[in-house]
Amino acid sequence: MNKFEILKTYFGYDSFREGQELLIDAILNGQDVLGIMPTGAGKSICYQVPALLLPGVTLVISPLISLMKDQVQALNQAGIHAAYINSSLSETQISKALQLAAEGRYKIIYVAPERLETYEFLQFAKAVELSMLTVDEAHCISQWGQDFRPSYLKIVQFIRQLSKRPIISAFTATATEAVKDDIACVLGLSYPRITVTGFDRKNLYFSVETPKKKDTYVLHYISEHSGDSGIVYCATRKNVEAVYEMLLEAGVPVTKYHAGLGNGERKQNQEDFIYDRKPVMVATNAFGMGIDKSNVRYVIHYNMPQSLENYYQEAGRAGRDGEPSECILLYSPQDLMINRFLLESKEQNSEFGEDELKTIRERDEERLRTMSYYCMTRNCLREYILHYFGEAGSSHCGNCSNCQKEFEEIDVTEEAKKIAACVRELRQRYGINVIVGTLLGENKAKLREYHVSDYQSYGSLREQTEAGIKEIIRQMMMEDILTQTKDKYSLLKLTAKAKELIEGLITIQIKKPKEDPQAKDALRNISVKQRKSDILNTRGLELFDTLRELRTEIAREESIPPYLIFSDKTLTDMCVKIPFTREEMLGVSGIGENKYKKYGERFISRILDFTGKRKEKLYFGELEEAVSGTEMKTTRKAAKAVKSEFYITPQQAQEFPYKERYLLPELAAALSESRNPDTMKKITGAEIFRYLESRDYVTEKRVDGRWKKIISEKGAEAGLFLAPRISKTGTEYEDVYYDEKAQRMIVELYVK
Ligand code: ADP
Ligand code: ZN
Repeated sequence: MNKFEILKTYFGYDSFREGQELLIDAILNGQDVLGIMPTGAGKSICYQVPALLLPGVTLVISPLISLMKDQVQALNQAGIHAAYINSSLSETQISKALQLAAEGRYKIIYVAPERLETYEFLQFAKAVELSMLTVDEAHCISQWGQDFRPSYLKIVQFIRQLSKRPIISAFTATATEAVKDDIACVLGLSYPRITVTGFDRKNLYFSVETPKKKDTYVLHYISEHSGDSGIVYCATRKNVEAVYEMLLEAGVPVTKYHAGLGNGERKQNQEDFIYDRKPVMVATNAFGMGIDKSNVRYVIHYNMPQSLENYYQEAGRAGRDGEPSECILLYSPQDLMINRFLLESKEQNSEFGEDELKTIRERDEERLRTMSYYCMTRNCLREYILHYFGEAGSSHCGNCSNCQKEFEEIDVTEEAKKIAACVRELRQRYGINVIVGTLLGENKAKLREYHVSDYQSYGSLREQTEAGIKEIIRQMMMEDILTQTKDKYSLLKLTAKAKELIEGLITIQIKKPKEDPQAKDALRNISVKQRKSDILNTRGLELFDTLRELRTEIAREESIPPYLIFSDKTLTDMCVKIPFTREEMLGVSGIGENKYKKYGERFISRILDFTGKRKEKLYFGELEEAVSGTEMKTTRKAAKAVKSEFYITPQQAQEFPYKERYLLPELAAALSESRNPDTMKKITGAEIFRYLESRDYVTEKRVDGRWKKIISEKGAEAGLFLAPRISKTGTEYEDVYYDEKAQRMIVELYVK
């Protein structure tokens, strides 16, 4: 097989993405490589494809246990033999894995860096043919990086001890020059092929909002995106608890994560999220390291984070599958205060001296300021981010909230000159509030104390508002005409560039949004890149939901996260292409031979059932358009909005086909049967289950790596019982059945 055949057969993709082919070719030529690519760009393929083509074994060094497990599961899903070795395994398991590896059973082995030191592992590495050593998250080797891991330095010693030096490939998402040089140097890469692919994540929509009530905004947004998976980040545990309670109350399938929860609860909640049992996560920034969930459709920041680095990393957890996703930051001026407080109360490492602490504090303050400018800028948000990370973006991306708002430019050069004059006249000894008060000609006790009314500037911008002047000052800071000192008092100072303003060499403009909400909506509808499933019509969306349910069903049977079976993108492509045969199914993006063998027929049979074996067109527009998924005519929102919540009439309840026993999905399907699908949403087994769970009839726990349903006493009384069931893949497991009494109770719930 060649690299293209491997990509198609194992991963189900037709072409390589930017940068991938180049790195793969270099590796296959025996060259070391360093790939710098943002999250979601597809780093794994860059070493997994050559690993299959090289004669021996590829070792992948990875710092996070959870990530290793995920990657290995994904590879095994694709029919590639892989294993991991880390401290989550027992000694016996490790020996067993090494023995199988020595027999050549695995092409790819993931290990934690600590493992490289052990005698047993080194013996193994010397004995097998090591074709390549891959260093994932390679920035961990750099002391300049945000998360330096001393254990990464062991990689270098390890390589030295090998009898033959393998090809070395390193990958990271961190782009700064210092880190890049460090990686190449410390790892001793020899004439490496280095590629840096752009940091722009085109599928992410960025927006900053300043809603009056954040809670209302969040609740509204989440209910409009029900069924989607998303993360809400809050600055404090207290906020997490409050937002979580609010959403729970409103019936959202939500879970939470912060450092104040016990280990067990954190683990359980994280799994609930990953397995889509509870697709909405409310968390502090403690959540997310090593989370590889590909179908996160939105990341909302309830509070402004402390730095743009943090923001881009957290927001970047949206849309790893490349599907359009949204990153929304809810800003209020209070956020700045919360963050200052958090920074001040941050535990400082006692190894630092007074001077170092001061530098750290200043740097933190600087980062915070950059972040708050992001919230206030009227220019393209994407360009702001890319510029910060040292990349030139276009000044208009068309896919952020600022690019979609209409602004008018207002010249404020004269006002800016008066502000600069005031700062100068007051000898740069005051903070922003005194300056603004002086310009406004205010008569406050504090201002009287400073005798500001003696100055010429006093009242020189009397006709302006406080907010108006502050906005101009902000603009002057962004344009580097004014700066604030980094100490506690934040005095306003002029920079060298201020001279140019005073001499009339430059002009200053600010942008004000045009208040025309209709224009904004219209604009949004045409220019926002819609997610792939948005191209589906009402029936298409229904097929999508049906396939999504099947995916969940299989995920439960096999105890793997749903996104490891098929991504949302693959399901959408199925709804567009409606495959009936093996050939047609293999033409769907993300379906390779192995995935077809495992799941193809089940999905085909579900599609045949749904369509009644007739090919239908389930998307808007032309196929070309549907497949490339660009501009759209109607949004998913619009299609969904017209449907009512599910209910049945008393008459329908009486005629319901009660049976001796039902499984929940069957019962939900029988219930949904009676509605008009064009006007009413259907009810799913998962929804009913969640309701019963919230009322303590039944619950679900992971036991020995499998989901197990547990019926409470109350549930047993109501008519729930366990009985064996055989999955389509042949494994036997227990599932919950509902007797007639329980069926009646459930049906009652939906009578209106
Ligand atoms: P990274 O490690 O860079 O964050 P991943 O390797 O996890 O990114 O890949 C992100 C997603 O992109 C995965 O779902 C992967 O299957 C998908 N992907 C990678 N390469 C391609 C490709 N050539 N075509 C389509 N999808 C791809
Ligand atoms: Zn933009």
